[in-house]
Amino acid sequence: MNPPRLLMAGWLIDGTGRKAQQRMCIGIRNGWIDFIRSCDPIPIHEGEPREILDWSAATLLPAWIDSHVHLAMSGTTNLDERQAQLADEDPKRIHRIERHLKAHRRWGIVAVRDGGDRHQSVLRYCRDLTAQGIHPLVHVATPGAAWHAQGRYGQLIGRSPAAGKTLAQAIESDWNDSPYKPDHLKIVQSGLNSLTRFAHQTAPQFSRSELRETVSLARRLGLPVMTHANGEVPVSIAADAGCTSIEHGFFMGREALKVLAEREVVWVPTVGTMKAYAESLPSDSPQISIAQKTLDHQLNQLYDAKRFGVRIAMGTDSGSMGVHHGRSFLEEFRLFLESGHAVHEASAAASRIGAELLGLGHLGTIEVGKAAVFLRIPGPPETVAAQLDHVALEDFRESANGYTLRG
Ligand SMILES: [Zn+2]
Repeated sequence: MNPPRLLMAGWLIDGTGRKAQQRMCIGIRNGWIDFIRSCDPIPIHEGEPREILDWSAATLLPAWIDSHVHLAMSGTTNLDERQAQLADEDPKRIHRIERHLKAHRRWGIVAVRDGGDRHQSVLRYCRDLTAQGIHPLVHVATPGAAWHAQGRYGQLIGRSPAAGKTLAQAIESDWNDSPYKPDHLKIVQSGLNSLTRFAHQTAPQFSRSELRETVSLARRLGLPVMTHANGEVPVSIAADAGCTSIEHGFFMGREALKVLAEREVVWVPTVGTMKAYAESLPSDSPQISIAQKTLDHQLNQLYDAKRFGVRIAMGTDSGSMGVHHGRSFLEEFRLFLESGHAVHEASAAASRIGAELLGLGHLGTIEVGKAAVFLRIPGPPETVAAQLDHVALEDFRESANGYTLRG
C-alpha cells in the first residue's frame, strides 16, 4: 500500500470554476484526497507523517473527461480504411477500442462518453469486461447504437425505429429484449453539419412530442439523453423536450443558446471537428473555407454560451475524420481558450461537467473526498496553453483498494 502523501502544487485549478490558487498542499490517503490547505506554512503535521511530492513548479488540474467520442472508429482520414472499420469483425474492433482507450489515458483522459456505433461493439465490450470483474482502462459510458429517423442521417452510428413504431416504443422494446443495457440514449435529431453549404440547416428528425415521450421513457429507465443536433429548430426542440445534452449544436443561434442556459441543458460543442476537417481535406477543396468559417462561427457561439451561463462539456467527437482519440482533446482545450474561456473555465468544461454527465461523483474536481487523480502541467496557468503537450496523468488510485486496469 502507498504511504500517505503530501502533494505541493505550485498552482491548483480545482475544476469547480474557481480561479487558480497558488501554493496549495493536497493530502492523499489510500488514493483519495483527505485535505487541501495552503502551503504557507506547509501542513506537514497534519495527521500522520507523509511522503512529500514537490510539484511547486507545476499547475495541477482535475483529470479530463472527453464527453463525446466514438471508440469503435479511429480518426483516420483514409476513406477506404474508414469504410473497412465499419465492416470489421469483433476481434479487430475490440483491439481498436482498447488502443483508443490507451490513447485517451496517455493524454490525461480518465473517462469518455461514447456517441455510439451501429454494431454496439463498445457496449458489448464494456459489459463483457464487467462480467469478468475488470474495470476498463478508462471509464466508458455508452449508448450502444444511436437512434435516428428512417431514411435520415445516422446509419453509421445507429438504427431507426421499425415502421409503425414511435421512437420511444422502439427504445422500450430494445431495452426489454437486449441483454446489454446502455448507459445513456443517443438520439440523432438533425443532419450532419454541411461542408458544402455554409450554415445550411436540416429539418429535425423527431417532433417535439416524439422527443418528449422519449425523454419521459428515458427518465423512467434512469438514462440521460445525448442528442446530436445542429441548427436552430432541431436544437430548440431537443432542449425544450428535456434532453440532457446537445452535441455539436452548430448554427443553433443565440435564442437556442438561451434556452439551453435556462433549461440547464449541457452543450458539447465539438469545435475541433471543423479544424480537423479543414486540415485533412485536399488543399484545393472548396470545403476548407466552409469548415474554417464554421469553426469561427462555433467559436463565437462558444463565447456567447459562456456569457449566457450555458453548462458546457468538452468533447472531441474522436473517431470522426481527422479527430484522433486522446490527443485531439488538447486541440479542443486550446480552442476553448481561443474562444475566450480562461484556463479555469475550460477546465470546468473539461472535467466537472463531464463528470456530472456521467454521474462520476468521485471525479471532475480536486476537492476533499474525491479520487486523487490529477493532471500535472509544467509552469503557471498563464502558460498552460503552450504546455498542454506536456500534460502528465498522476493517478494515485492505481495501487489503492484493488483498483484494476486493463488495456
Ligand atoms: Zn459523434
